[in-house]
Amino acid sequence: MFCKNCGKEIDDKAAICIYCGVPTSESEKPRQQEATNIWAIVGFILSFFISVAGLVCSIIGYKHAPEFGGNGKGFALAGIIISATSMAVTFLGLILSFVFLGGIGAAIGSAIGV
Ligand SMILES: [Zn+2]
Repeated sequence: MFCKNCGKEIDDKAAICIYCGVPTSESEKPRQQEATNIWAIVGFILSFFISVAGLVCSIIGYKHAPEFGGNGKGFALAGIIISATSMAVTFLGLILSFVFLGGIGAAIGSAIGV
């Protein structure tokens, strides 16, 4: 390319002109904004409310993180952990309540002689 200030030919990748020191247009270009990994953020938020949806979105966000320059990988990972944990807690709670209710039922049953 040619320097826009002095017009001399300079390296295409040069950030400044080696003759006059003026920054080239190449270096003035704004750095490309990395896209936001919306899946990871949505998954992270959903993991607090709807575990299954949060888990799915987080996994998608985690898998696509490289396409966003690794953007949102932490969010996705946190979303996976939170939603998986809350699913496990819900599942355990269900089992425990069934066992508990079953125990009460058995106790009542034996008390009334069924
Ligand atoms: Zn120049």
